[in-house]
Amino acid sequence: MIAPGQWLGLLGGGQLGRMFCHAAQAMGYRVLVLDPDAEGPAASVADQHVCAAYDDMQALDALSEQCQAVTTEFENVSAQTLAILARRAHVTPSARAVEIAQDRLVEKTFIQSLGVPVAPHIAVNALQDLDHAPTSLFPGILKASRLGYDGKGQVRVASLAQTQQAFVKNLGQVAAVLEGLVPFVEEISVVLARGRDGQCVVFAPARNVHHHGILAVSHISGETSLVNERAIQSAQTIADGLGYHGVLCVEFFVLANGEVIVNEIAPRPHNSGHYTQNACATSQFEQQVRAMAGLPLGSTQLLAPCVMLNILGDVWYPYDTDEHVEPDWASVLAIPNVSLHLYGKKHARPARKMGHINVVDKSFAKAVERANEVVDLLNLPIRATL
Ligand code: ADP
Ligand code: MG
Repeated sequence: MIAPGQWLGLLGGGQLGRMFCHAAQAMGYRVLVLDPDAEGPAASVADQHVCAAYDDMQALDALSEQCQAVTTEFENVSAQTLAILARRAHVTPSARAVEIAQDRLVEKTFIQSLGVPVAPHIAVNALQDLDHAPTSLFPGILKASRLGYDGKGQVRVASLAQTQQAFVKNLGQVAAVLEGLVPFVEEISVVLARGRDGQCVVFAPARNVHHHGILAVSHISGETSLVNERAIQSAQTIADGLGYHGVLCVEFFVLANGEVIVNEIAPRPHNSGHYTQNACATSQFEQQVRAMAGLPLGSTQLLAPCVMLNILGDVWYPYDTDEHVEPDWASVLAIPNVSLHLYGKKHARPARKMGHINVVDKSFAKAVERANEVVDLLNLPIRATL
């Protein structure tokens, strides 16, 4: 066990890293953040920020010397970096788990091998691979296998000709997967934490609505359902299959017949788990701290139903012009049970994640109602629904 007062290491300095720092520091830990960006959201809250590349040997040495345990806030860190750190520090999640999650094709193949269904797809490594694309994959989505996030690196395609063109022009012929468009009735996600001993604790599933490929609203009613049970089962199967250690998110598509199929996994806390900060006994970030420090995992009990609203940079541009206007936070915060989380990013750009708002209430219906007051005030693109 790594006791409070000790140093924990973090790769990446985005908003997930910032909220990890907050949780770790609240428990008395000190955090060293490695992030090449001098002004990332975590840099200003870390106890120490090493501004260097993820493959900078000197920085990795410093990190693993100062910190007994290291975790990551994003999946695109190279497995080699994690392997180097693992020579001296306890690295969670493992290089292998991150390696699987950072490549869409490897990820889908692995999940399928566990008997958990994924979206229909084929690998597209070269133009010729499309010659055998079954017509059932159209309409579909062509996704770069690596480095995509928030809908980036993806193109919707209606035909073979469009896919060939997108593969060359939009993706520059990088390794990709072509997925059939899944006719989902809803999207849900499960965040869980798994300890070194294999103990697994699961948060209440969130029902998620995306806008232009970016999460907009998460709904957490706390109701149990067969669909939620299936998703939890599948998420646990994946965590066990990976021998996972740390916080894991699994995103699902729900079909009209109640079947759940995996969209993708994230080897870290997830945007759809931000609700845990205000609605659960333990947040997903505290869970990340506990897991890496070898402490007992916290209770995932949902204390109140919740709606989470993402705040993108668009909110700062209410007039569809370049005019930058600070949102009316005072009016937002005058609504009861609203918690504002902003990531301290200096520049609001459209589609950039700037913060989120959690609205909790004893009744889910009331949380939805109050969340929609926020939606109206900030003119957010998606309303919360029952
Ligand atoms: P990201 O890494 O950007 O989150 P995802 O693969 O999760 O990428 O895609 C973002 C969103 O796009 C999904 O949450 C879903 O709304 C939509 N989407 C992605 N793949 C499919 C698919 N095969 N069928 C239908 N919708 C999809
Ligand atoms: Mg996603």
